[in-house]
Amino acid sequence: MRYDVIIVGAGAAGLSCALTLASAKGRGWDWAENRRYLVLDTDRSDMNKALFKNVPGIEEILGVNLLKRIKQQIKNWNSVDFLSDKVVKVKGKRGNFTVTTEKGKEFSSEFVVLATGFHRFDIECEGAEVVDNFRSPKPGRVMLKHDGNFKIRDGLFVAGVLAGVSSMFTTAAGTGVQVAIDILSEWAGSPLVVHDVPPEG
Ligand SMILES: Cc1cc2nc3c(=O)[nH]c(=O)nc-3n(C[C@H](O)[C@H](O)[C@H](O)COP(=O)(O)OP(=O)(O)OC[C@H]3O[C@@H](n4cnc5c(N)ncnc54)[C@H](O)[C@@H]3O)c2cc1C
Repeated sequence: MRYDVIIVGAGAAGLSCALTLASAKGRGWDWAENRRYLVLDTDRSDMNKALFKNVPGIEEILGVNLLKRIKQQIKNWNSVDFLSDKVVKVKGKRGNFTVTTEKGKEFSSEFVVLATGFHRFDIECEGAEVVDNFRSPKPGRVMLKHDGNFKIRDGLFVAGVLAGVSSMFTTAAGTGVQVAIDILSEWAGSPLVVHDVPPEG
C-alpha cells in the first residue's frame, strides 16, 4: 500500500509529526486533501515509563495516558493508519521509498520519518549513520547524523531523541512537528504554518 509519509515510531516525536501532518486537512489547501499517512510502531516509547509534570500547559499525567490522548487526537483527523510492527528496512529515494517490516509487510511512500528513540538503531537504511548521542546523560544512547534540519537525505528525515535533542517530551515532540511542517511546506511550495483560531462571535 502507498502512503504520502511513513513515520517509524509512535512516541513523542512520531505522534507529533503525524498530528501536524494530519491537521493540514480541511484548510482550503488542495494539495493537503486526500493525503494518507502511516505510523509503524513497536509500542516501546519511553513515555510509557514517565509521569509528566513538566509538559507546558498539561496537567500531571502518566505517559501511557498522554500517548493514548495524542493517538486519539490523530485519529480524529481520519488520515493516519497505525500498524503495530517493527520496521527492519527502508530503501529507495524520495517519491519511491519502500519500508519493510519484521512481519514481511511492504509499504511505499514519498517521505519517511525515522523517530525510533535513542536506545538503538537497527533498521537497514541507506544514508542513516549512527553516532553517539552527545545530549544523553546515559552512555550507549544513539542518534543519526543529519543536516541540522533533521534531513538525512532527500525525503528521509529523523525526529525525536534519535535526532540528538535532549530527552524531554517537548523537545522530542518539537522536532516531529518541525519535520511535518517542512514536508507540508515542500508540498505547498513555500513556508507555511498550521494555525487555528477561535470561532468568531
Ligand atoms: C523514566 C522516564 C521518565 C521521563 N520523564 C520525563 C518527564 O518528566 N518530562 C519530560 O519531558 N520527558 C520525560 N521523559 C523523556 C521522554 O519520555 C522522551 O524524551 C520521549 O519519549 C522521546 O520521544 P521519541 O519520540 O524521540 O522516542 P520514544 O518516545 O522512545 O518513541 C520511540 C518509538 O519508536 C518505536 N520503535 C523503535 N524501533 C522501531 C522500529 N524498528 N520499528 C517501529 N517502531 C520502532 C518504539 O517502540 C517507540 O514507540 C522520561 C523518560 C523516561 C524513560
